[in-house]
Amino acid sequence: MTDLPKDLREALAQRFTIGLPRIVSRSKATDGAEKFLFELEGGVRVEAVFMVDTKRRPSAEAADVPPGVRTTICLSSQSGCAVDCAFCVTGRLGAGRNLTAGEIVGQYLAIAREKRIGPHEANVVFMGMGEPLLNVPNLLRALDLLESEVAPRRTTVSTSGIVPGLEILAARARRPNLAVSLSAPDDGTRTRLMPINTTHPIADLFAALRRWPLERGRRITFEYVLIRGVNDSLDAARRLAALVKALPSKVNLIPLNESERWLPGLERPPAETVDAFAREVARAGVPVTVRWSKGLQADAACGQLKGREEPRRTRGAAASDR
Ligand code: SAH
Ligand code: SF4
Repeated sequence: MTDLPKDLREALAQRFTIGLPRIVSRSKATDGAEKFLFELEGGVRVEAVFMVDTKRRPSAEAADVPPGVRTTICLSSQSGCAVDCAFCVTGRLGAGRNLTAGEIVGQYLAIAREKRIGPHEANVVFMGMGEPLLNVPNLLRALDLLESEVAPRRTTVSTSGIVPGLEILAARARRPNLAVSLSAPDDGTRTRLMPINTTHPIADLFAALRRWPLERGRRITFEYVLIRGVNDSLDAARRLAALVKALPSKVNLIPLNESERWLPGLERPPAETVDAFAREVARAGVPVTVRWSKGLQADAACGQLKGREEPRRTRGAAASDR
């Protein structure tokens, strides 16, 4: 920009960067999911995942996505996570740093460019590394910036239930869809799995959710990671349904993605248990889906994103209490 004065150019160069996050590596699963590892300022590494609705995809190996096929880009908001859920690999990293709005949107832009995704062709979910509602200013700015490419109704923010963050998001004029990671129907089990529950117990979380301005026809998604022998009983399914029925809701069951190295002792329940749990929730009149994670082979499934190789925390709390 030689039309700008030299000292202004120098000042700009010192304070700002222009460009996309550097892609360090890409790994592809056979279902079309692809994990992107990015390196950001200061050598920080985060992961984001590109996913394709495989039901309608003719070939998982095709380089480009055919028109009309639904794609979803899963973004990270932090480079680790302080929330420390017992079942999550990102939690094992401990607190990372907050990503800037530019770094959040940069993941989307870099993937959209690589996969040749145009404006309004992809959904965005904040389900990668980190807790978006512990990085609210940057999340809000990123949501604003993303709007020209992805409509808020095609954007979903997933949270472990940070009440003050929910309240800030609720006050926005244009809100994304909301997904809440519940993973237990009672405070005892939830605190064991998600220590954040001591700060924001279920009653407080649901009080905030009741205040969430939900558009007509919309539902809050409750994510529930199913862990064998921990939260997968039929009784838990009934209590879960009774709890979420207080709101327009749907339940998304995620059978645990195991990791012997990072999550020792935690197991995915057998398929029959998952099915029986889902049927019990449905029987109570709550819409339920089972998300058998995409990208498993690429180590890109829910709760498997780490951006680095060594756990900082090792813990088997949920397992050892069993
Ligand atoms: N921090 C936010 C968003 C990122 S986690 C949150 O917790 O909602 C995205 C989803 O992955 C959450 O619903 C979380 O419960 C789920 N998840 C974490 N670890 C998992 C694992 N090992 N297997 C399956 N799902 C997992
Ligand atoms: Fe953090 Fe979400 Fe993982 Fe919990 S599940 S540790 S909140 S990223």
